Amino acid sequence: MRALTVVPLQPGSAEVRDVPDPQPGDERLLVEGLALGVCGTDREIAAGEYGWAPPGRDRLVLGHESLGRVREAPAGSGFAPGDLVVGIVRRPDPRPCPACAHGEFDMCRNGEYTERGIKELDGYGSQLWSVEPQFAVALDAGLAETGVLLEPASVVAKAWEQVERVGARSYFAPERVLVTGAGPIGLLAALLGVQRGLDVHVLDRAEAGPKARAAGALGATYHSGPVAETTERLRPDIIIEATGAPPVVFDAIAGTAAYGVTCLTGVSSSGHRIPVDLGRANRSLVLENDVVVGSVNANPRHYTAAAQALAAADPAWLESLITRRVPLERFAEALESRPDDIKVVLTLGS
Ligand code: BGC
Repeated sequence: MRALTVVPLQPGSAEVRDVPDPQPGDERLLVEGLALGVCGTDREIAAGEYGWAPPGRDRLVLGHESLGRVREAPAGSGFAPGDLVVGIVRRPDPRPCPACAHGEFDMCRNGEYTERGIKELDGYGSQLWSVEPQFAVALDAGLAETGVLLEPASVVAKAWEQVERVGARSYFAPERVLVTGAGPIGLLAALLGVQRGLDVHVLDRAEAGPKARAAGALGATYHSGPVAETTERLRPDIIIEATGAPPVVFDAIAGTAAYGVTCLTGVSSSGHRIPVDLGRANRSLVLENDVVVGSVNANPRHYTAAAQALAAADPAWLESLITRRVPLERFAEALESRPDDIKVVLTLGS
């Protein structure tokens, strides 16, 4: 079968190759890959900046945003041939740390977790893949075109859970949320905000185009001005930061109303130095009881919440987030990022 592979930390090594079909064994689902979402992490791995091959191998099968259809399912697995399914990304560390031992591998403490398509485990970027049933999530049949958005939605469902759990340390009745960055994470965060009945604002540097349209179609208010000015005007109770761009991150940290929660979801590269007024940020955090929380990955509880959020969303709106579909063999086009892209998806059908 064909698979998108890469030699981690070797720029330009991404290649579609023939690799052996997965051996399902007795305890795994055998799945036909339908689609694979491409995100910033995949682009970083392809650029040689991140990623780990499985032990003893040079190449890693890329891809962690999966969507497939079950071809074979072991008896008693809870799955049947034909089911629409998504594979979970992370596996607990083998030691395991206390968080992994409690099923919260998204909160792994020792960093020895593994991740499909990212860290030491082959990903889902192949025509066939296999997965343990306990790391597979069944999807509503209506999500056959857009279920590939489940993994980014799970990351967002976790971020919202963090915001709500942090907020719940005292009386918390948020009204307004600002999402910085209108990529897939930002727009899905906005969707979950709208589903919670909040007044949702989305800020991005693109002044118009598919991102602005997607935010508008949700009923969110779209902004493209400077971050600090926007937060000053809006005084949001919650900020979900989805750019990872250092100046935006800093303004987001200092930009909430009193008792605000800022959740950081964007992974930035190190080495960007910017002058900041840390005194002002500290003053605002302390005097307003603000919290800044980082959030990565997702555990099965978040995948379930995300599957419910996607099933409740307007299918045409979800479809509008997928701005390009590219066949596997033309993966290089999918790895380019273009200004009007929201989510680029590789199609895996043979
Ligand atoms: C993935 C997460 C993963 C993180 C760090 C993100 O792109 O969505 O599942 O934990 O990268 O590797």
